[in-house]
Parts: sequence; C-alpha cells; structure tokens
Amino acid sequence: MSESDTAPPSNFIKHIIDGDLKAQKNEGRVHTRFPPEPNGYLHVGHAKSICLNFGIAEQYSGLCNLRFDDTNPEKESVEYVKSIKRDVEWLGYEWAGEVHYASDYFQQFYDYAVALITSGKAYVCGLTPEQAREYRGTLTEPGKNSPDRDREIEENLVLFQRMKQGEFEDGQYSLRAKVDMSSPNINMRDPVIYRIRSVIHHQTGDDWCIYPMYDYAHCISDAIEKVTHSLCTLEFEDHRPLYDWFLDTLEMESHPQQIEFARLNLNYTVTSKRKLKTIVDEGLVLGWDDPRMPTIAGLRRRGYTPASIRHFCDAIGVTKSDSVVDLGMLEFAIRDDLDSNAPRAMCVLAPLKVVITNFPDGKEEFLQASRHPKNESMGKRGIPFSRELYIDRNDFMESPPSKYFRLAPNKEVRLRNAYVIKCDEVIKGAGGVVQELRCSYDDKTLGKKPEGRKVKGVIHWVSVQHALPVEVRLYDRLFNEESPDKGDDFHSSINESSLVVVKNAMAEPSLAKSTKGSRYQFEREGYFCIDSVDSMPNRLIFNRTVSLKDSWAKEKKK
Ligand code: ATP
Ligand code: MG
Repeated sequence: MSESDTAPPSNFIKHIIDGDLKAQKNEGRVHTRFPPEPNGYLHVGHAKSICLNFGIAEQYSGLCNLRFDDTNPEKESVEYVKSIKRDVEWLGYEWAGEVHYASDYFQQFYDYAVALITSGKAYVCGLTPEQAREYRGTLTEPGKNSPDRDREIEENLVLFQRMKQGEFEDGQYSLRAKVDMSSPNINMRDPVIYRIRSVIHHQTGDDWCIYPMYDYAHCISDAIEKVTHSLCTLEFEDHRPLYDWFLDTLEMESHPQQIEFARLNLNYTVTSKRKLKTIVDEGLVLGWDDPRMPTIAGLRRRGYTPASIRHFCDAIGVTKSDSVVDLGMLEFAIRDDLDSNAPRAMCVLAPLKVVITNFPDGKEEFLQASRHPKNESMGKRGIPFSRELYIDRNDFMESPPSKYFRLAPNKEVRLRNAYVIKCDEVIKGAGGVVQELRCSYDDKTLGKKPEGRKVKGVIHWVSVQHALPVEVRLYDRLFNEESPDKGDDFHSSINESSLVVVKNAMAEPSLAKSTKGSRYQFEREGYFCIDSVDSMPNRLIFNRTVSLKDSWAKEKKK
C-alpha cells in the first residue's frame, strides 16, 4: 500500500462480526480482549493487535478486556505488567472493568483439569521431555501413545493432586489431554496442559507449583470472560482445533470464536519480544524505552503521538496474508501528524558565527514569526535579531557548485523570518577551517523581496547573544538491513550510527519554556520532541522524532 492510497483498508474481521450481529449470535454482543504475556515491553506489532481489539470494541459499542496471559512465571515480571498497562492507556484505550490475569483463574483451570481427568480426557504422563518429543512423531509420521495413556482415572487424580502439592521434581510428570496421537495436526497429539515448575509467580506467589499451558489456559480464559471474538495472529491457526476441543469437551457455556489475522512485520525492525530483550540485555540500546526501539515506550519517547500510531494501524489494514510493511509508512504517519500540529522553531545544529557588519553593535530587534504556516490560531513568537548570529555550517560553501542557493562568498541568502544577507568576507582559523563570516544585511528585505535581484535560498539562524544551547539527539534506524528479523543473528545488521548526539546546538530562545511532551518542527531539520527522561529545565534535550523527508526512500532508489 502506498502513502497516497486513500481507499479504506480492508478488515475482514469486521465483515465476520457484521455477519454475526445480523445472525444475532452472542445475543448481539461484541467482546474482545488483548492478551499480552508480561515477558517484555509491547512493540509496534502489539499496537496493531491493541488497535484492532480495542478499536472493534469501540466501533461496535462492545467491550475489550486487558488480560495478562501470565502462565509462564519465569519470564514474567511486574515491571512488564506496569509498562503494558501504561502503553495501552497511552494509546488512548480503556479496558472493560478491572485488569484480568490468567492467574486469576488458576483454581478454575485446575478444577477443569480435574473434570477432564474424571471424564477420561486427560492423564498424568511420566515421559521425560525428550521421550515426549520422540513419542510425538513428526509432520510425516504419526505419534505413539504414551505408556501412561491408559492409566486409571483414580490414579490420575491422585497423581495430579500430588503434582499440585509439590511432591515431584520439575518435569517429572505432566498432565496431558487425551486427544489423538495420530492426528495430522501435531497440536492435537495429546498436548501437555500442565507442567511442574517450582517457581514464584509475580501474582500468585508460591500458591502454585504447577502451571497451565497457553493453549489450555487461553481458550478457557476467553470463555470465562465471555469473549465473543478471540483475535490472534496466524501462527495460532493450527491451534484452533485444540481451542475448540477444550471448550467442547469441557462443555463450556460460552464458546468464543478464534479468528486469526496476519501479524505486523515492519522492515528494518525486529518485532519479537525475545529479540528485543536481547538488544536491551546486551546494551545495544539504552533500555526498552530507547527512542530507537520499536517498542511503544520507545516510540513514545521518540516523539510519536498515539494518534499517529492509531492512524498507521488503520492504514495497514487487517488481512489473512503475511506481508512486510515499509517503515516509511510509520514515519509518514508521524510526519503527517506533526506537520499539522507541531509549532515551528529554529535550531542550528552545527553553529557557524555570522557577524552582520552593518547592524549596530548592542542593538536588538524582535521579529515576529508564525508558530505555524497554516494554522494562525497557534499565534506568533518573537525572534531576536542582533549583530551576531549563528547559521548552520552546512548552509555555507566556500566554492559552491552552480545552483547552490545557500550562502557563499559574495552571494545572498534569506534568513528565515528575517532579512536577506550577503557574505562579504570569510574568516579562517588554524588549518583553514572557516571560523566566522562577515556579512551585510539589507534592511529593506524584512518580509519583502529584495529589489532588482532574486534570492532563492532560505536558511535558518539564531542570534548568538540570545541563543539557547541545547542537546539534540539524532536518531536513525536501528538496523541497516531490511530483514534483520530473518534468522537469529541480527547483530551484523545493526546500524552503528543510529544515534548521533549534538551537544551544543543553538536554539531560538522561545524554546526555553519547552516542557516534557513539547514537540516542534525545527525548520529544515525535522521534527523534534523534548526527551522525557534526560531533559532538564536548565539543560534541554531534544530527540529527533523523524526527518522532514523519507531519506531512506531515496537511498533505496539509488
Ligand atoms: P512476541 O513474539 O513479540 O513475544 P507474542 O505474540 O508472544 O509476541 P504476546 O504478548 O503473546 O506476544 O502478544 C499479545 C497479543 O499481541 C497476541 O494476541 C499476539 O497475537 C499479538 N501480537 C504479537 N505480535 C504481533 C504482531 N507483530 N502483529 C500483530 N499482533 C501481534
Ligand atoms: Mg505469545
């Protein structure tokens, strides 16, 4: 899909729900859930799932639960629980009622497991994990029955209770559903539904030493919460028969419908919590919320707005076929938002001093400039002009090529929101490095064209005496390669220059009042926001959210 494509994106799930509502299925209710495992921070892929689940609930006046799928305590933590809640709220969604946890239902899962054993549909198995793998068979060979498959119901009940009481070692026994070892679908070959893990759980402490498996816990949680549509990613398609088997076998009152959709893959990006955790643990970035991370926390700190992420998720649509979305689309979404909403300001990243020789020493003028070129309601700001200014070193060339419209010896350029100046003299320091420019200004060019000559270039500037020194952090893509997610080793595709810190950029003084959350377009440089973690009132730090144009699109065409 291109940026200009304005056709409404497809969402086949809405068609299914429309049909269900017409047929009066689920008494006309729509109830979804977002079920993250608290084993890492959420990433942009999860944003797609959040926007889908909460968006559908909103659109159909239904409900959406936030449920932590916390059945794997070793990898989970309260830090992750907190970050996930914050991210969902920040995206602008409200979950129905209290936050739910799969662990809220541990007793019910246990009771349902006892019911399965009692009806001969589950058994305690003593195969070691290696043996179990061997017995499971392959895609082309059926599995073999476990020697414990026909264990007496009574004995199973006793063993399962002893598992719960902590009488066995981790891995010594498991509880398995009795489905079909010869099923072509490996998920149906007597899947494990409980395993022994003597670990502390972040919600239930040491209450349990047996923990249910995802496939078993998920469908029952959905049914307990009377979810109507259980939306998940395509890799669960082969698990759907098992989802239905548990609910049918347990004769659950409610039977949610599992519907699979394609996960979001973004080029130049890793979207796997496990790999993102590696990136954090190895110190390749400064944390989960490092502005280079594709986590929601990282995007937030980078300066993305909730609206831009929601628009992006809308634009990519929801389908059943896997594809890779161009990172440029995400960047387009934030650029589009900030173009309309971010006030303009000037900030010089590589300062070069300019002395306006015909401007009186000690004089200052306060020029007026619009905060936004198209939105008058944002008002104006005062910009001080004085004899000494900074311009950007990259806006001057001593021996420019033809068609160079910025500043050069004996050439004119317009200072943005101010006058036309001409470069009369270049002053160099040791090694021939340009240190200062002596220029003259034309005082009749404020807001007016110069008489009798054309000046094409416009450059930004700040007054030396009024300039506000700030730190600017220029971020780029974390990976140089389109598919860092292929294979396990993404290290070779890390972009070594994904962060460039500019310690002494010079900003216009109106920025001194910027507070956390402030966003600007630094004219000609891109969109920037105040860093929410490191910035201090007396030492402002700005993150570049995105450049003004998609420089990578150009790269690719080269
Ligand atoms: P990861 O592989 O990154 O750990 P996960 O699927 O294990 O992802 P969960 O916490 O289980 O992470 O995901 C919560 C929900 O978000 C699930 O319903 C999952 O299908 C969905 N989800 C995860 N990744 C994506 C993605 N890239 N695109 C869309 N939905 C996703
Ligand atoms: Mg998962």
